[in-house]
Amino acid sequence: MALPMLAAKRPLPAQVAVYAFVTVPFLALVAAVPLAWGWGLSWLDVALAAAFYTATCLGTTVGFHRYFTHGAFKARRSLRIGLAVAGSMAVQGPILHWVADHRRHHAFADKEGDPHSPWLFGTGPAALARGFWHAHLGWVLDRDLTNQRRFAPDLLADRDIRLVHRLFGPLTVLTLLLPAVIGGLATWTWWGAATAFFWAGLVRVTALHHVTWSVNSVCHMIGERPFAARDRSANFWPLAVLSMGESWHNLHHADPTSARHGVLPGQIDISAWLIRRFERAGWAWDVRWPTPERLARLAAG
Ligand SMILES: [Zn+2]
Ligand SMILES: [Zn+2]
Repeated sequence: MALPMLAAKRPLPAQVAVYAFVTVPFLALVAAVPLAWGWGLSWLDVALAAAFYTATCLGTTVGFHRYFTHGAFKARRSLRIGLAVAGSMAVQGPILHWVADHRRHHAFADKEGDPHSPWLFGTGPAALARGFWHAHLGWVLDRDLTNQRRFAPDLLADRDIRLVHRLFGPLTVLTLLLPAVIGGLATWTWWGAATAFFWAGLVRVTALHHVTWSVNSVCHMIGERPFAARDRSANFWPLAVLSMGESWHNLHHADPTSARHGVLPGQIDISAWLIRRFERAGWAWDVRWPTPERLARLAAG
């Protein structure tokens, strides 16, 4: 298994495939909206989908990722539990699996042992297509379970977190049924419950799945690399808003414990904004904000 040279260029067919994988399903979904509007999709469904997307995405980015995996800040117990629950409702796996997998990803980034690197099969077009599939979704289907005792002993020792971990099944049911219940009660129809279940339940979970997986796949293939990381992580600006700041992935690998990933001017980072709100409210402290000196040391070249 050869690692790519730092200056290797992706062949054009693979480049096109990556863009197609990112854009075609999204455009299909956008095309379905006017078709369904008025009979199978309402403003209520849109509002519910946006609200559940935002809450569960931030549960993943601020909670599972920046807080639980990397310790970018400290949090009071109620916030800690709230973030664990919100992140679980993104249906990306129970918290102990998620954190252990992600710590393993950083420990072996883009090398053998990384659970979801796109670079494990070589650099030819076929190898990259296979690598992209593996990094995006294939690894999720893999039956390997990362060793929690090795990669998440701190969370294993926490009763609250073990409980949230065990409640993953019920929380999955809740995250799908809650929009349906709200949609049904607001419209007082079964149809209102059904469309809310479809858009704010199923479509919302799927959309966030692909955004998160794109950080694993696209953000290790395409984008800018202004900071010195030991892997192929890159900043991919088109996903900055939908990923709530996580697609500034090059900085994240260069400085994993930083509470802010979008550190350069104009780099929107909604997760960092929320951490700042928590800090101001006194719910979070010891936040690892980046300093100009630290960023200068991390700059590439
Ligand atoms: Zn990464
Ligand atoms: Zn990370």
